[in-house]
Amino acid sequence: MTLAGFAVTLLLVTLGTGLLPDVLNANGMSTTYSHLLDALLVALILICLAITVFCARNGSLIGIWLVVLMFLVLGEAVVNLDASGRFTVGWYVGRLMWLIAVAALLMALIWNLSRVERANTELAAFDSLTGAESRISLLDTMHREIARVRQTDGEVAMLWIDLDGFKGINDQLGHQVGDHVLREIAQRLSHQVREGDHVGRLGGDEFGVLLCDDVQPTRVDAIADRLLATVREPIRCEDLLVHVTAAIGIALAPKDATRAEDLLLCADLAMYAAKARRGDRYERFTASIGTEAVAKARLRHELTSALRQGEFCLYYQPIYEADGQRMAGVEVLARWLRDGVAVPAGEFVPFAEESGQIISLGRIVLRQLARELPRWLDHHGLDFFVCVNLSVRELADGPLVEELLDSDLTQRPSQLVIEITESLELQENSEAAANLTRLREAGMRIAIDDFGAGFSNFTRLERLHPSLLKIDRSLVRRAGSETEGGVAFLTAATSVAASLNCDVVAEGVETLAEAQVVTLLGVRYVQGYRYCGARPDRGVPGVVSFVFVSLQGLNPECSHPAASR
Ligand code: C2E
Ligand code: CA
Ligand code: CA
Repeated sequence: MTLAGFAVTLLLVTLGTGLLPDVLNANGMSTTYSHLLDALLVALILICLAITVFCARNGSLIGIWLVVLMFLVLGEAVVNLDASGRFTVGWYVGRLMWLIAVAALLMALIWNLSRVERANTELAAFDSLTGAESRISLLDTMHREIARVRQTDGEVAMLWIDLDGFKGINDQLGHQVGDHVLREIAQRLSHQVREGDHVGRLGGDEFGVLLCDDVQPTRVDAIADRLLATVREPIRCEDLLVHVTAAIGIALAPKDATRAEDLLLCADLAMYAAKARRGDRYERFTASIGTEAVAKARLRHELTSALRQGEFCLYYQPIYEADGQRMAGVEVLARWLRDGVAVPAGEFVPFAEESGQIISLGRIVLRQLARELPRWLDHHGLDFFVCVNLSVRELADGPLVEELLDSDLTQRPSQLVIEITESLELQENSEAAANLTRLREAGMRIAIDDFGAGFSNFTRLERLHPSLLKIDRSLVRRAGSETEGGVAFLTAATSVAASLNCDVVAEGVETLAEAQVVTLLGVRYVQGYRYCGARPDRGVPGVVSFVFVSLQGLNPECSHPAASR
């Protein structure tokens, strides 16, 4: 196609030029026609030059090169104004100018291409915000260093540094402060290492420090301590003082891993172990951390398939009046039927919350409860209540809350109690708070779960309008123990409940001493292995068996923790 086009153009030019008047006359002298053509050419080049100069006024290198080129072309045209002067000195000068122009253009292109390439490499090698090495560059260095130490029998250490609660800084103080903090941390980290070591930004609020020689445990520990201390120092940002801490994971090559990517993974896993212990500390990678991570990965995988297959059922743990005689309600607890064994919620719910799978689990729980709830309510009085746990993530999920509001669970809403854990997360999540209000307005009651396990603020509790306060097992344990002041916490919790005008459930009552102390303090309801553990609802007979248990008070089958889980 191109060739055909080229051939046609050539033919037209050949035919066309034959029709045009000659440039030189019979004596080889220029004609008026040739002068006209020369003048037109020079005028055209002048216009092009003006346009080029106008475009190159911002001083770009390629623009300057093009201006030079246009001058050369103009020079060539001017030198060649006399067409009769072919093969004269002027004609040769003109040709030379053309050659220089073409060479200049090529040089300009090559120069610019190499500049762009250099800029790209620099961009890839360094993090634009902090100036630290980029993840790619750090990985590259790790590859090289690991290969080196494997030949020299040496070791390198990778320290994965993750700032604790950085999201909060970004959200509460703004991205500008967040960026300033990251820049400052990067600078501080690089001041703590030697010339041959490397500091890079692995992404977000994560940094990596590669120690390339002398990775004796004492030196690595000392550096990790120094890094933690330097991060801990307050960061001044205009009139603010920002406090941050970090969690550090340490892994060694070739001891823990022989490939750069694996070394990074080991350091990351060790960092998670440090985070799990509330951060502001470092952890070294160990085999058990590795096994735990593999187990977690497997759990996630199995949980995904269990959610797809719906391999869950509901267990119900009775809540009794304090005398242990009358069953006042039940708490719904999810169970995962894994290979025929009912796995307690405590073993997978925290994980499902972390991975976001809690929404699918919540949907399964609510749908199943909608089917089983009538059986409970039909066999008990109007004051019987059924408690269901909802995490902040579930509450924040619009479609899930919508489904709950549209379901049969709203038929006798005052008998349904939503158990929530009062937390910072709940306050920060306006969606969850708004949805909780919708549930309350639909007539459902609110229970504060695990009260006393974390920190609670009275005003915030009041805003949730709870009707039940479930006192955490840890407070019950303290009260039941002989330790001095053990009862004080439980007493404080009951007085909070009294001021909020709500009833108290003492959770996790296991011993006679615990049962006695909670009764003495006037707690209205009790729940725990002492009375009965969680059980599946086996239809009406199951309900009858619960009634039997409640009448018996201490049923031997139920009083044993292992049996009642
Ligand atoms: P929770 O709401 O505090 O529930 C009480 C947990 O303590 C249950 O564990 C229960 O079996 C256990 N327990 C009851 N009595 C005793 C006792 O006397 N001693 C001891 N040591 N433990 C006792 P489970 O079923 O493993 O549930 C753990 C947590 O998982 C629950 O704590 C709740 O926060 C969460 N959970 C359970 N089911 C669901 C659910 O359907 N959705 C959501 N979002 N969370 C759930
Ligand atoms: Ca609960
Ligand atoms: Ca609880």
